[in-house]
Amino acid sequence: MSAVEALIRNSRIAYFTMEIALRPEIHTYSGGLGVLAGDTARSAADLEVPLVVVTLVSRGGYLRQEIDSQGSQVDHSDPWDPERWAVPLQAKVAVTIEGREVWVRPWLYVLEGATGAKVPVILLDTQLAENDPVDREITDRLYGGDESYRLKQEIVLGVGGLRALRAAGFDVSTYHMNEGHSAFLALELLRQTERKQEKVQARESIYYLPRVREQCVFTTHTPVEAGTDQFSYELVGRVFRDYFDIEELKALAGPDRLNMTRLALSLSGYINGVAKRHAEISTRLFPGYHVHAITNGVHAKTWTAPPIAKLFDRHIPGWLHEPELLVRADQIPDEELWSAHQEAKGLFLQKIETATGVRMEMDVPVIGSARRMTGYKRPDLLFRDLGRVRSIRRRYPFQVVLAGKAHPRDMSGKDLIRRIHGQIAELRGSVACAFLQNYDLDLGLAFVSGSDIWLNTPLPPMEASGTSGMKAAFNGLLNLSILDGWWLEGCVDNVTGWGIGSYCRPGDPACEGDSLYEKLESAVLPLYHDDRAAWIRMMKQAISKIAYYFNSHRMMRRYAAEAYLR
Ligand SMILES: *Cc1c(COP(=O)(O)O)cnc(C)c1O
Repeated sequence: MSAVEALIRNSRIAYFTMEIALRPEIHTYSGGLGVLAGDTARSAADLEVPLVVVTLVSRGGYLRQEIDSQGSQVDHSDPWDPERWAVPLQAKVAVTIEGREVWVRPWLYVLEGATGAKVPVILLDTQLAENDPVDREITDRLYGGDESYRLKQEIVLGVGGLRALRAAGFDVSTYHMNEGHSAFLALELLRQTERKQEKVQARESIYYLPRVREQCVFTTHTPVEAGTDQFSYELVGRVFRDYFDIEELKALAGPDRLNMTRLALSLSGYINGVAKRHAEISTRLFPGYHVHAITNGVHAKTWTAPPIAKLFDRHIPGWLHEPELLVRADQIPDEELWSAHQEAKGLFLQKIETATGVRMEMDVPVIGSARRMTGYKRPDLLFRDLGRVRSIRRRYPFQVVLAGKAHPRDMSGKDLIRRIHGQIAELRGSVACAFLQNYDLDLGLAFVSGSDIWLNTPLPPMEASGTSGMKAAFNGLLNLSILDGWWLEGCVDNVTGWGIGSYCRPGDPACEGDSLYEKLESAVLPLYHDDRAAWIRMMKQAISKIAYYFNSHRMMRRYAAEAYLR
């Protein structure tokens, strides 16, 4: 048996995701959802959970961001070479789109875990000579194109993905949908189950729902209905044709529009949100479903910078396999933690200077904030009142580093980037600020290990979980964030970090902005400047009370025990 055959034979759980961050050179991700998928796969490999990942090849990537001299984002495609990293599988399958046969070729990328165990990743590709030129581009641009392009991508991912798994010889018993994009896989399962029951004449899906639900797990990531993927039935009829009876589909996916989240909810036997608050909100949003909570985590090895990892190796052996052991981080000697942190910070400051020419100081705290540039993330909350920012800076020096991409069609996100560049220019001479372009995996690690304070100011309850603050905690950074998503579980004020706006009506920017300034001026910055020992104690508490829990090994063990082994 060849190595590839063994890999195929062993996989039992298929994890379907529109995006995944496998490594910096493979541009099949855009942001948090993809990074989470990557961390999930890395933990599965380390823990020898028999997972196979299914995703799109996204040859043209998501977006390479350039910022021009006016502070505007310029969008570039961000291609990568599947040929360099993956091997083609001889298991081509076809799906029907707009009445045309569209061939899909699976590529195999092999992700190796800490013990040498492997997780196969199937990358679906329609760039094939036998396809109509318009169909060759379906798997090209992640989150690109219009509604119809997205629908076609989701057909390739769900229907094509399931067929490709079968054609390649996988024998999967559980299907995990990472967000609603892949919900057509469950529809295809339903269709195949019906087809097997030849005696039943009418297509009455309802009889087969329990059998499909037994096999399906759904993780929702969206706290508002407007954020879910939806398609008009007119479009669905045009693209999908007679693939599935539209009236039956309406019963499963919503009467007015095909809602991918509703489809996934209807066809899954286990449903979860990505943090406790998010599960509560989802239960209210989708009455009648039991939404469990499995709070996200991040992959320890991926998100701990080398100087800090070396320190953990010395003082907490075994932490990579059992991040729970970081509960003992309080024992790490102060000076060793501080010097490891300063080493990571030094590398980051060099990177900032090389990229932007802005020179920052080692003994002045860096506020880092990197996130998708979109309205609800409110990346500019810190700059609400520049007079206040300057006056705080006069008492307690600090520096600010930002990064983040706006989706090419998110005009308000692009406006935010321009506005932030204007504000950075206004602060020149009083507060050192820099914006680094093209936020990605590599830059992400530099940010979450080289800053001192990690700032996150989303509009509640929009941050379903958030994960960058967890990465920051692994490196001993202190979170200063709005109480939303995971931070509601991770924040112990003045112990693991600081919560913003606990007394505000959620989403009141004036109150939340004030609260941010007040925390900075009365708690965060004085502690850094005046009581270094207490600061370092808090760094250790962030590690021992956040990183020990908010890691993807704990998350994967819970998926295995609660969702996969039902
Ligand atoms: C971790 C990460 C994200 C997600 O961070 P959030 O806190 O959820 O916004 C997005 N992009 C990159 C490159 C990351 O590393």
